[in-house]
Amino acid sequence: MTRPRQPPFLAVPGPCDLRCVWCNHGGSAPVTVGHETGELAARLEALAATDPAAVGFGLHHTEPTTYPDLLWLVRRARDLGFRRITLSTSGMKLADRAYAREVAAAGVTDVILSFAGLAPDRADLLLGIGGATRAKLDALEACLDAGISATAVLMFLRPALQDMPGAVQRLAGLESNAPGTFGFKGCLPDLMPGTTPRQHDLLQPSIGELAWTLARVRADVPDFELQSHGSPPASAKPAHLEEPPMWEPEDLEQALCEAELRPAGRCVAPADRTSDPAWQAAVVETLASIARRRCGVLGLEIGPITREDRAVRVVLGSDDRLIEAIIEPRSGTERFLLAGEHLAVSYSSASRSSSARVHDVLRVLLGVLERATRER
Ligand code: SF4
Repeated sequence: MTRPRQPPFLAVPGPCDLRCVWCNHGGSAPVTVGHETGELAARLEALAATDPAAVGFGLHHTEPTTYPDLLWLVRRARDLGFRRITLSTSGMKLADRAYAREVAAAGVTDVILSFAGLAPDRADLLLGIGGATRAKLDALEACLDAGISATAVLMFLRPALQDMPGAVQRLAGLESNAPGTFGFKGCLPDLMPGTTPRQHDLLQPSIGELAWTLARVRADVPDFELQSHGSPPASAKPAHLEEPPMWEPEDLEQALCEAELRPAGRCVAPADRTSDPAWQAAVVETLASIARRRCGVLGLEIGPITREDRAVRVVLGSDDRLIEAIIEPRSGTERFLLAGEHLAVSYSSASRSSSARVHDVLRVLLGVLERATRER
């Protein structure tokens, strides 16, 4: 599909109303990029003097529709002679049809909306706000009905790849029935500076996973285009196709929490179960085979380990066998892992625990272990 060249975009300093995990998971207020109205008007005038063909609003993790003077700026652009005026927007406000009509009347001709797939139970987690995918789809319809051309951009995030073939099929159906001009494409997200290796692994697809996804997408829509600001993955020649992981929503939510990609307050801390007799019984049961080998508590070591900087490792000995109890203060679940002859007990407590809290957990865990050994 042919698209007009991208216009120059201006950063309008409205805070974004979404919390997309690749962009704004920490929240965008206060916004420090972009210019205020007077300076934006001056930039519009300068652009109009050279080429009034097209201009866009929305850049650098900002949201133009939350800026109070947006419609004034759009009218100013129209009065200066710009023929194409584009909003790059979250779409949250445009889901309101009256607002979409107002925006169209002011002079907006095009909108660009990004999606993290169209399966809301996963996509909303990646957009950071419940109901965001539905609102974006409503915004698409509202804009097209108001006579605004729309482009949907599917963000090829690793947890969204399995949803892409279905999403592309659905958008292709929308394209053929759209009352106005509608197009869609894919895009590899640019992850924010400061993205941790864990966040990168969770969000960034491998070349093989992209190839697997594109092969399925292009079986239905052969000219589907995937864009990337870095090296173009679509042109790379992978040695093999690699199926990306399929995430259950609750597992994805957990992984996003553990990677610190959920907005503050959205990760629910698990209840403290260390004093719960059922929890203690589960520990005893899990450690029974070690306890039968006359396990004794030989030592307690508290300090950082390499895997998690705030984790605490307890090393317990049984002849030449070791038990590692790993306390991960920032994760969200409790689990027990059996690894070969060694038993690793991993307990994740609520949020970032204080050292007093960690000591409490250790004390209870060690007490349970000692009891299991005595009662053997
Ligand atoms: S809608 Fe755009 S600006 Fe807002 S958080 Fe998502 S990617 Fe960032």
